[in-house]
Amino acid sequence: MLPVVAIVGRPNVGKSTLFNALTRTRDALVADMPGVTRDRQYGICRVGPRPCVLVDTGGLVAQAEGIDSLTARQVRQAVEEAAVVLFVVSARDGLTAADREIVEDLRRSDRSVLLVANKIDGLEHHVAAADFAELGMGEPLTVSAEHRRGLETLMDAAADALPAETPINDEDDDSDEPGAIRLAIVGRPNVGKSTLVNRLLGEERVLAFDQPGTTRDTIAVPLERDGVEYLLIDTAGVRRRSRVTEAVEKFSTIKALQAIEQAHVVALMLDASEGLTDQDTTLLGHVLQQGRALVIVLNKWDGLPADHRARVKQELDRRLTYVSWARRVTMSALHGTGIQELLDAVQQAWRSATMSIPTSELTRVLNAAFEAHQPPMVHGRTAKLRYAHAGGRLPPRIVIHGSRTRTVPESYTRYLANRVIDHFGLKGTPLRIEYRDSD
Ligand code: GDP
Ligand code: GDP
Repeated sequence: MLPVVAIVGRPNVGKSTLFNALTRTRDALVADMPGVTRDRQYGICRVGPRPCVLVDTGGLVAQAEGIDSLTARQVRQAVEEAAVVLFVVSARDGLTAADREIVEDLRRSDRSVLLVANKIDGLEHHVAAADFAELGMGEPLTVSAEHRRGLETLMDAAADALPAETPINDEDDDSDEPGAIRLAIVGRPNVGKSTLVNRLLGEERVLAFDQPGTTRDTIAVPLERDGVEYLLIDTAGVRRRSRVTEAVEKFSTIKALQAIEQAHVVALMLDASEGLTDQDTTLLGHVLQQGRALVIVLNKWDGLPADHRARVKQELDRRLTYVSWARRVTMSALHGTGIQELLDAVQQAWRSATMSIPTSELTRVLNAAFEAHQPPMVHGRTAKLRYAHAGGRLPPRIVIHGSRTRTVPESYTRYLANRVIDHFGLKGTPLRIEYRDSD
């Protein structure tokens, strides 16, 4: 399970600036995809070598309209789930009463807390640090989120504070072990995730309830269908009878992020009767940022009039041009239609995401693509592309070696990607192209 790192602090100390600085590389991946939403509260960041879920609780407070302390429910949840809390104060403002209150709250939560003094730019470190000594939390880590200073030291300290356990993560696993397909079914509350899980696993193992948001855990459950092994990573939670009595819990973005990170293939479930909502496109942004294979499931297809169906399809065509590579499956989890098609699409996505791409064939395909259509001239010269090889799987990465590759425009990279996708019949997985300059 991905550890959670929560950023906590009073308004205006620079929490969202810090959040953006720490999640920036991944953000860039979805920055220019219209129709896909960037999540400004939840993201993935690297702490040392480990991916973590980073939560900006400031954004959560703002959303909760006026509730501005750790008592806001989602803030408390984030802190409770956090392995490490980054408690941010402003070196510019010094210690305030609001800071002291938060410290009190954090003491009660019993988390591992790092004191982070932001806005250190232009200030003397030791003078700024002395101001916070009375908190009894030791030397603060001094950073400037805005100028991206001190962040590495901060992340090193966070890495030391994390529990030692290693997350399931074989992104870099190049072994040819087939293994089970890790499938995460994600979607906002009430789209039909549990109903689908019921269908897949059989009624005696799980139970769906008619009220949204019954207590849920993220649990991995093995499943075999037609000789194919899956591991269902289910955010809806495999709702066991014994859990029914527990408190009703809201949809957890943290759990969805953890499930996406653990999955090979994500089935993103939408409620076709409601079309595409903001929460859907935010989840989609997370799937794309994490480079997961994807199947889009349009559930509750039953009983929808033909004109509504056509409208939903058009809406997705129009708004999700950037994920045209993902298969869409219409389904009624309630009546059990579309499930075979879903599993076929999941298998296809998995095969595509794990395909080994032979160097010679790849180089041939790309050479043909260059010959058909050269990269555009920039300052009178074009990029030279020499050879290419596969650089990894889940998602497939292709590394192209050449010179002046920085001048290759995004549109040309997309053209190359499409040639590779067509030739190798990839469907349901993103493809990443990287360049290496031998200049
Ligand atoms: P939040 O309310 O805690 O999320 O704070 P923001 O991230 O919105 O930042 C509040 C203000 O502080 C903004 O005007 C930022 O530009 C500014 N700020 C954030 N980080 C720094 C920093 O490292 N140095 C300076 N000088 N200003 C910063
Ligand atoms: P979850 O919160 O995503 O796990 O959603 P549930 O599986 O609990 O389903 C929420 C509600 O939608 C329940 O009342 C289900 O019976 C209903 N539902 C689920 N799938 C379908 C479907 O395919 N068609 C229709 N009409 N209703 C469905």
